[in-house]
Amino acid sequence: MYDELKKAVYDANMALPAHGLVTLTWGNVSGVDRDAGIMAIKPSGVEYSQMKPEDMVIVRLSDGEVIDSKLKPSSDTPTHLVLYRNFPEIGGVCHTHSRFATIFSQLGVGIPPLGTTHADYFYGEIPCTSAMTAIQIENDYEANTGEVIVNAFKERDCNSVPAVLVCEHGPFTWGNSAAKAVENAVVLEEVAFMAWHTLMLESPTGIFNNKMDQKLLDKHFLRKHGKNAYYGQ
Ligand SMILES: [Zn+2]
Repeated sequence: MYDELKKAVYDANMALPAHGLVTLTWGNVSGVDRDAGIMAIKPSGVEYSQMKPEDMVIVRLSDGEVIDSKLKPSSDTPTHLVLYRNFPEIGGVCHTHSRFATIFSQLGVGIPPLGTTHADYFYGEIPCTSAMTAIQIENDYEANTGEVIVNAFKERDCNSVPAVLVCEHGPFTWGNSAAKAVENAVVLEEVAFMAWHTLMLESPTGIFNNKMDQKLLDKHFLRKHGKNAYYGQ
């Protein structure tokens, strides 16, 4: 069952090593079927070279129950579930420890928009979450990782900024499909790489008062997204 979704999620997971975004078995991608009320996600601890489409684990969105699999779902499954429940329009979620995005996460700061590469995909700063509290770390850590992400989007639109940095951890991205979530992870890493170097040239301490022109940011994001988009349609 759910063969099509499993294949799409498998392909999205395999794109992570292909794009150099993961080391060892790190990283996980999921995709959702809202009508069926389930998501498919990478199994826990299986090497990319051994993984098959049928290994993707089907998990029920409402309660996290695994449906018909001998394999365990990724240990980050509760984070994915919290994101699907709170961001109702998204269709895929991706988590990596890609290097430059993770460096910003470890610093505990968001990535400011510095140029049009950023603006084509992310309408404003890519936020960093608050640090997790001791209680959040000790109880339901993975679900609470989802909660600090949701909290970072109280004042932001998750559809126009489809990425976040979890403080002292790493990035999560999402999109309307598993493939789109991975594409956003690829762009995020490139944006983080460029931002890091831009900020290092700007000031030896880096932090961080450079911002791109708001009009240019508007132009690049809004020509590709939303009701007045015209670019590449
Ligand atoms: Zn992680």
